Amino acid sequence: MPTQANNLDAYWMPFTPNRRFKAEPRLVSRAKGMLYYTPEGREVLDATAGLWCVNAGHGRAEITRAIAAQTEELDYATNFNLGHPKAFEFASRLVNILPGDLNHVFFTNSGSESVETALKIALAYHRVRGKGTKTRLIGRERGYHGVNFGGISVGGIPKNRQYFGGLLTGVDHLPHTFDLARNAFSRGQPAHGAERADELERIVALHDASNIAAAIVEPVAGSAGVLPPPVGYLQKLRAICDRHDILLIFDEVITGFGRLGAPFAADHFGVQPDIVTLAKGITNAAVPMGAVAVRSHVHQAFMDGADAAIELFHGYTYSGHPLACAAGLATLDIYRDEKLFERAAAIAPHWEQALHTLREAPHVVDIRNIGLMGAVELAPIPGKPGERGQAIFHRLFDDGLLVRVTGDIIALSPSLIVAEGEIDRIVAAIREGLSQIA
Ligand code: PLP
Repeated sequence: MPTQANNLDAYWMPFTPNRRFKAEPRLVSRAKGMLYYTPEGREVLDATAGLWCVNAGHGRAEITRAIAAQTEELDYATNFNLGHPKAFEFASRLVNILPGDLNHVFFTNSGSESVETALKIALAYHRVRGKGTKTRLIGRERGYHGVNFGGISVGGIPKNRQYFGGLLTGVDHLPHTFDLARNAFSRGQPAHGAERADELERIVALHDASNIAAAIVEPVAGSAGVLPPPVGYLQKLRAICDRHDILLIFDEVITGFGRLGAPFAADHFGVQPDIVTLAKGITNAAVPMGAVAVRSHVHQAFMDGADAAIELFHGYTYSGHPLACAAGLATLDIYRDEKLFERAAAIAPHWEQALHTLREAPHVVDIRNIGLMGAVELAPIPGKPGERGQAIFHRLFDDGLLVRVTGDIIALSPSLIVAEGEIDRIVAAIREGLSQIA
């Protein structure tokens, strides 16, 4: 095989139909603000903030400079039994913007690792309190919690589970909350479906609370196609967890850092989880990083041990990596100085109004939105699920718009810097694209 820069063969691409892609590649080589640029210099408007992660827009000079300076000063230091100032500073800054008493932070390198970490903390939490039988984990259908074994076990996306064996035992799933018959074209939270949280009571009745450690949900399911929670649903989950000493974990990998127009979804919905998983917007995606934040009582349970032995046997070589912490600190400065979370809240009504004008466009069976998240669900081509989704994705990319497609759902999550005019361009391009595809 000849070695050449443009040989596409060696790279086994993630979550991609490799053969199709390589027959018809799409590359971007530069980005700034709301735009990607192809190697030929063609502009592509980014309606997905990279992959729900570039919340402050692409190519932020402040973040670049912080990373460069950090590389010069301290490229790497382990966080096992050693520390460096920026990791402590970043954890403190995060705690300052996290809701309630989520006041301790464990660093990881991705959303998937954050989920594994959160599940392990939940199991160990009960164990250190002498409740070692509380081991079952509750996820939800259509949940996405990354791709590692814990995450796909509690996750509820069939394709992510079907090839990988028995997965974790001791896992149950709540039903998903999607209900086209009752909630189609809802604006914001759908009115119907809070009662689906009651399934948690049924699971508790089946297994007994003494066997259940934690329930994990995305406050708004993202990867499964933007499913905002029904009104009252998260509150019910919280109440049931409280009743039975079950930890409630919010996976805020997508919803964190302003996506809903509040710092975190927990703020937006007014529901306090015990553990929160973070990634993506934590560094504006400039350096891979994730984090898990836990409430006082969770952290304290580990610190009440008899001696000063390692409280949690867990960690990554790159936990609290200096470059990631530097990028994260610069990112938090941008969010604060440019008031980007407030900006997202202010522009969300325009987003909602514009998206819902697509209701009469061809193939559209549902439109969902909350904060700066949105989904346009298309009817599948009979017998060919996902084909229409692929068709619109390709069509839009060729027309200069990047969206994310899962199955036949167009998912949208522009950076929080998006302007009204750009929202209108996104919607107009989708309308035109839908009129062009079969
Ligand atoms: N959890 C949620 C809710 C996500 O949306 C994602 C990624 O999209 C993950 C976890 C996994 O994050 P990563 O791809 O960084 O491992």
